[in-house]
Amino acid sequence: MSILHHQFHKLYQYRKSISTKVFSSRGKNLSRCDFCLQGISFCVCDSRRQLISNTNFLLLMHDDEILKPSNSGRLVADLIPNTTAFLWSRVDVEQALIDLIDNDTYQPVLIFPSDYAKPEREVFESVSDIPALKTKPPLFILLDGTWRQAVKIFRKSSYLDKVPMLSFSPEHIASYAVRKGQRDFQMGTAEVAALAIDSFGEKDNANALVLWCNVFKEATLRGRNKRSAAELQPFNLYKDAFSNAHKKAIQNML
Ligand SMILES: [Zn+2]
Repeated sequence: MSILHHQFHKLYQYRKSISTKVFSSRGKNLSRCDFCLQGISFCVCDSRRQLISNTNFLLLMHDDEILKPSNSGRLVADLIPNTTAFLWSRVDVEQALIDLIDNDTYQPVLIFPSDYAKPEREVFESVSDIPALKTKPPLFILLDGTWRQAVKIFRKSSYLDKVPMLSFSPEHIASYAVRKGQRDFQMGTAEVAALAIDSFGEKDNANALVLWCNVFKEATLRGRNKRSAAELQPFNLYKDAFSNAHKKAIQNML
């Protein structure tokens, strides 16, 4: 089976090629797969399957984030075919990024907490509240980095100022997390993407992404090798759960 490579992989390879220092992270001595960034024995590339979706994603990534094995933004690119990733720079803004935001085919929507919005900013709490999405597919923009980095990207990227914001209320996030059986309501980039996909009405696609996150988290924990065998469920259970959710989601979209 050929392993599907997507745009994030290309950006990762590029960023790695210009890197002057060895990336230091937890588990840096682990020999990793170049694509899923998991330890070789926990490579999940064979399980990666794209969905069929009417959503589109733009990941605006902080430079520190892209080489991190724990980054979850790329899980969106794993599943959603039309996902584009850019390295964020405060000064050198790529024209392709501006062109994509300005592309009339899509309605760009920035997903970010409303607390940071200036009073004049258009902020919506649900996808169904955004009038332009009745006629155009969404281009969901995610700022991918630590919380501080994401706030910096938000504040220092004036081309985002005109983009309407989608901001989920804490109650909405909590009820979604409960529905998904998550104990921890802290959401990573991929989980926020799942929330947006769910809000757009592609519930089975959102579910498949959540289960893909679970495969990834389990592979990461196994790479750290801190748990006893008794604590471990067979890894295939996670992969099978994703595979079943993926099949169901594809059938719904055909
Ligand atoms: Zn892999």
